[in-house]
Amino acid sequence: MKKILILFSSILLSLFLSASMFRSTDEQDNNAVESFISDMIEKMTLEEKVGQMTQITLEVVTKEGNDRDPLKPLTMDEEKLREAILKYKVGSIINTGGAANSIEAWHEIITMIQDVATKESRLGIPILYGIDAIHGVNYTLGSTLFPQNFAMAATRNRELVRKSAEITSYEMRASGIPWNFNPVLGLARQPYWPRFWETFGEDPYLAAQMAVEYVEGMQGEDMSDPTKAASCVKHYLGYSVPKNGRDRTPAWIPERMLRDIFLPPFEAGIKAGSPTVMVNSSEINGIPAHSDHYILTDILKEELKFDGFIVSDWEDIKRLHDRDRVAETPKEAVKMAVMAGMDMSMVPYDYSFAEYLLELVNEGEVPEERIDDAVRRILRVKYKLGLFENAYPNKDLLKGFASEEFRKINLTSAREAITLLKNDNSILPLEKNKKVLVTGPTANNMRTLNGGWTLTWQGNIEELYPKEKNTFYEAVVAKIGEENVTYVEGTTIDEDVNTEEAVKAANEADVIFACLGEEPYCETPGNIDDLTLDEAQLNLVEELSKTGKPIILILFEGRPRVINRIVDLVDAVVLGYLPGMEGGDAAVDVIYGDVNPSGRLPFSYPLAPAGFTTYDYKPIEKFDVNDYEVQWPFGFGLSYTTFEYSDLKVETNGGIADDVKVTVTITNTGDIEGKEVVELYVTDFYGSVSRPVQQLKGFEKVHLKPGETKTVSFTLTTEHLSFHNRENKKVVEPGEFGVRVSNLTEKFSLN
Ligand code: BGC
Repeated sequence: MKKILILFSSILLSLFLSASMFRSTDEQDNNAVESFISDMIEKMTLEEKVGQMTQITLEVVTKEGNDRDPLKPLTMDEEKLREAILKYKVGSIINTGGAANSIEAWHEIITMIQDVATKESRLGIPILYGIDAIHGVNYTLGSTLFPQNFAMAATRNRELVRKSAEITSYEMRASGIPWNFNPVLGLARQPYWPRFWETFGEDPYLAAQMAVEYVEGMQGEDMSDPTKAASCVKHYLGYSVPKNGRDRTPAWIPERMLRDIFLPPFEAGIKAGSPTVMVNSSEINGIPAHSDHYILTDILKEELKFDGFIVSDWEDIKRLHDRDRVAETPKEAVKMAVMAGMDMSMVPYDYSFAEYLLELVNEGEVPEERIDDAVRRILRVKYKLGLFENAYPNKDLLKGFASEEFRKINLTSAREAITLLKNDNSILPLEKNKKVLVTGPTANNMRTLNGGWTLTWQGNIEELYPKEKNTFYEAVVAKIGEENVTYVEGTTIDEDVNTEEAVKAANEADVIFACLGEEPYCETPGNIDDLTLDEAQLNLVEELSKTGKPIILILFEGRPRVINRIVDLVDAVVLGYLPGMEGGDAAVDVIYGDVNPSGRLPFSYPLAPAGFTTYDYKPIEKFDVNDYEVQWPFGFGLSYTTFEYSDLKVETNGGIADDVKVTVTITNTGDIEGKEVVELYVTDFYGSVSRPVQQLKGFEKVHLKPGETKTVSFTLTTEHLSFHNRENKKVVEPGEFGVRVSNLTEKFSLN
């Protein structure tokens, strides 16, 4: 039998270390928290307990209900609010009432809610207010809205991800909101899936690294700090790979894949301290996640020792009955979910969850200890956020809200995300004296730069967007002057508007900027039948190409739409992703060379609408007549300068449990400064189960002046080299491994 290294769960190890080495003030603090909570639970009635586990949406306590005009402010309904908090004793409220509110309106809303909760309720337990601050505080008008997560992953810049989370937590707290339903830690391995853009890309290592930065940035050392907020890693587990590509449809994920690929980002987010987890709305292997004791309790709470709470997604406990039909009644659905490990239900329109749960406990169907455990977990988060001390908005934070400093970090993020995918004959950077035609459906609006979760759920109401921010077209005008720019819409996303006119205008221009992509969408409304970009847009480029003028294709899209029909017709391709409020300026800065592009693809860009394969494919996928073909590979991205790699070295003593050190030298051999992403890929040549042809196990972004050289080093630990074997045990197997950095490769052996 092969000698293998079976890994102890690193969690167990850290528990052992923390128990033996750090018996300290941390422990005393924890004791204080736990005894405060125990006292509170002792005082609580059963009604108060099941109320804590209940979450409603703000619409339930507003006058408008579900009928809000997004362009008008909402009005709270005090009577309904009192009913929610005093009669039904709800523990949490979420969302916006349908559209973004001004920061002043948020202060009023939160103050009103906390007044009732802390001053009028029997025990004064504050409400935990939660929001989807997915790329910034997207439901507070005027906030700093960053590139969406997949674009942040394209920056490969950990510091920027951390800063974006710090700014988001600041602006959340400035709005009076302490809990964020982000980061999304599913993986973008199914390009049809309409939530592709909410993830940090297709790779587990990349997503796990960004998860740590995000969670730590959001929470800091101490969540009760007035500028820090609680994160919620979601949607646990396996939500992102629906077999048919449509949102909220089944995934089939074998245990090995679940643990090797989908669990690591969540494990990283939880270890980094995320105190809440939201659950996959759909099902894996035939088991709706909200009823899955194995993933919720066995893996999350017991194996990973998660001591925060698990919140459902929208109406998903009800869905166990009326959609998934694993529970014969709505009441059985509540029992099933709570016994599987659910701690809080995003009901969110009524109080049925609390009512059923109360009955179930009284009937002895759900033990009160399970309720106490859930309530303890919820109160722990409220306590750690400092809400028992002060649950009110902090007016002092208003002055830093949406500051110029925040805007600059946002602009830097967008600039570092933009990824140059093609640049024939170095047409870019473009000289500023050329006459340009700007055309296409994403050229002159803010919504296609931002995507979903912007000001409204779908992000599609252009009137709500700030007028002072530049669309792509406005940014071109700002850069080279109105006299050099013509704008013709050309097409909408899927219909011709005036392609002919665009072609005429192209004849008068030196260069064409064709801005294509997608309208904003979020969740199920973003489902599509064909990954190929819409016919009208492809046709626009084909017609424009007949003029013989150079075409720069600029893409603003939430998933990689297939464009192979037009790739050869254009001279350059600039992938903008969904770059946020500063994205128009950022893309234009890159095109004109004021910024040297340094974004790298966080996913594999498909060549065709079917047969999608991620970069970590298995050997059989490129064997015999099978071939691995993509439009552009994961990690791809061009620069205006050139980098040369040398001296790839591996240091190891050959011990299977010991670290392996990898170093590589990199030089900027071009004429301008630039940032390069140094990526380390590892191959495990033979395994007891088939191994991926390569896996990303390290990345660093380095800045180099012309002629400058730097050495980058990586440490590979057993964590990087392990995988789940035939028995689903996490192991490192001895044998030969390969490393690759850029075009250099080396081998090493472990025994
Ligand atoms: C989404 C979640 C979101 C929740 C609250 C659901 O529809 O799936 O991601 O956090 O709504 O808005």
